[in-house]
Amino acid sequence: MRAYRTELAPTRAQTRLIRQYCGVARFAYNWYLDCAQAYYRETGAFLTGYSFSKVVNNSARPDWFTAAPSKAVKHAIMCAEQAFRRFFAHKGGFPQYKRKGMNHDSYYVIGSIHVQRHRIRLPKLGWVRLKEKGYIPCKGIPKSATVSIVNGRCYVSVLYDSEDAAPGPATGEPLGMDVGLKELAVLSDGTTFENINKTARVRRLEKRKRRIERSIARRRAANRTRKDSSWRNYHKAINEKRRIEQRLVNIRTEHMRQVCNAIARRQPSSLTVEDLNVKGMMKNRHLAPSLHKQSLGTFFTLVRDTCRKYGIALRQVSRWYPSSQLCHDCGYRNHEIKDLRIRQWTCPGCGTWHERDINAALNLRDATECQLIE
Ligand SMILES: [Zn+2]
Repeated sequence: MRAYRTELAPTRAQTRLIRQYCGVARFAYNWYLDCAQAYYRETGAFLTGYSFSKVVNNSARPDWFTAAPSKAVKHAIMCAEQAFRRFFAHKGGFPQYKRKGMNHDSYYVIGSIHVQRHRIRLPKLGWVRLKEKGYIPCKGIPKSATVSIVNGRCYVSVLYDSEDAAPGPATGEPLGMDVGLKELAVLSDGTTFENINKTARVRRLEKRKRRIERSIARRRAANRTRKDSSWRNYHKAINEKRRIEQRLVNIRTEHMRQVCNAIARRQPSSLTVEDLNVKGMMKNRHLAPSLHKQSLGTFFTLVRDTCRKYGIALRQVSRWYPSSQLCHDCGYRNHEIKDLRIRQWTCPGCGTWHERDINAALNLRDATECQLIE
């Protein structure tokens, strides 16, 4: 099973339909929760999603409800059933009702999904344009899809049944990659990818976000004491904040994808990275915010997927390996290199001048003790 998630570019009419279908799925979910509770109170028995679907299908339903793909309704009911089962098995809290206007809203479809390079055909929507062309593979038959609306944008996640055939091992020169806070990534061939959070574009957005957050707090305080006030501006501010957050996520993910594409283009036979102790570093409150923005966990997942896709052996070196302290030329270990501010140094052993990150990436590339990541 493999999922491909990408943004849709629906027409206005299609957006309206997507919202409607999400609404139906939400309604079905809540409807089941209502009925299952009532059923349990009366009979002491569990109402299965299967029997509830049958009741729903045989009852009179309004047009807006039947307009939605029937699988979307079925799936929503089965999800609600799962939530109930988890509750009964003490694995989760009592299922929550889905509210309108939530940050995330979705519905599920199965069957008759077709993909072309620039568009996707979905049940009861027709052809919908894709923002990223050629990302979802055209060959193979998609099993199912989930259409979602997050912060006002529409996405589709397409699930494929069969795994693509494993690619042959890549044959290019091995690569090492140093990941950090100053730069996002430095490859052993010298390619550097900046920390996107330090660019003016991201900083401007961050600043706007902070300003809106303050105004949200102010409005909340003001509206509490004023009886006549409407909450419209408050909600407008919240929506604006969500939009900015989504843009930041998109910018950051796009930047990480660029690193992955660069790796894929080089087709290295192996890629060696350091096992960063992100959890440990998060405990350092000076580093935590910038680490959080770097979202290195997401980055690592993307890199791993890239390596799998192109047959690149991904190797990970223990976090205790002193990749930034060793001189790549003579192997001298310079214990002075601890402070992150030292960007360049000259090796006392052989006199070679090093750029810290490139030297570290070279050491990673040539490291012999490492773990192969599947
Ligand atoms: Zn040296």
